Amino acid sequence: MSLSIKTPLLESLPLGHLNGTRVWMKMEATQPSGSFKIRGIGFACQQHFEKGARRFISSSGGNAGLAVAYAGRQLGVPVIVVVPETTSERARHLLQLEGAEIIIHGKMWSEANALALSLLTDQDAFLHPFDDPLLWQGHASMIDEVVAEGIRPDAVILSVGGGGLLAGVDEGLRRHGLDHVPIYAAETQGMSSYHAALKAGKPVEVTALTGVATSLGARQVCQRAFDIAQTRSVVPVIVTDREAVNACLTFLEDHRVLVEPACGAALAPLYGKKLNLENEKNVLVIVCGGSTATVDSLNSFNG
Ligand SMILES: *Cc1c(COP(=O)(O)O)cnc(C)c1O
Repeated sequence: MSLSIKTPLLESLPLGHLNGTRVWMKMEATQPSGSFKIRGIGFACQQHFEKGARRFISSSGGNAGLAVAYAGRQLGVPVIVVVPETTSERARHLLQLEGAEIIIHGKMWSEANALALSLLTDQDAFLHPFDDPLLWQGHASMIDEVVAEGIRPDAVILSVGGGGLLAGVDEGLRRHGLDHVPIYAAETQGMSSYHAALKAGKPVEVTALTGVATSLGARQVCQRAFDIAQTRSVVPVIVTDREAVNACLTFLEDHRVLVEPACGAALAPLYGKKLNLENEKNVLVIVCGGSTATVDSLNSFNG
């Protein structure tokens, strides 16, 4: 049994008309933990559980931590999430609802992560938010579902943080012989570590991460995400915070689903008609979701 669900694949008429093509939305926002993360993390947690892990540890105050907490609750395994003081009240509340134990430690994520690692015993499994082949294998199932519904995409649009989603989608596409399909990899300006890696010719650490798309805030993308761009067409796309937030608000009206700016980053190039998609028959956008956004926070953004 899988901890993630089969999500709806819906056609977006507004986005299709805007871009002169058919746009299919994989609605990962409807996953029980609120984002696609449960696919990979749920799969990894199950593997660890079968191998004897009896506690899960995470240092993510975002959607990855929520997915670990959800997986733990479903499997009856206690979960510890170590987060820095900067973690929002809302994120703490959501983790608490899932029954996770929260430890607040340090001013920065690196301090929380160091404590999380120091807690590990051989009964524990540590869940990385993006750099783990088990995660990619789990994320790939979203493409299995798309293909099973008879849609073989000619282009895919997704957002990139640390690159786990990109690695999973690439794996899923390759499973179905879709090696040639280009992937548009969207980031916000202040979180563009993938763009930085492509420019530098290897994953590099970006010094400052800024902006609203906090779920894209990985200082350095994983090696795998970089390597994928050597084997298929990966087109980096950068949007502003304003564009990402506006995309979330328009998407809410168009499709009545609330998503985070991190997800808005993948919707923004479509709303802004930034990609030339007229010659692609079927375009797939991963609506990756996110649990931390509120309508208020989107409306009150000023930048
Ligand atoms: C984690 C996450 C991303 C980025 O995924 P990576 O695997 O880190 O690239 C994008 N959007 C949302 C909502 C996320 O939770």
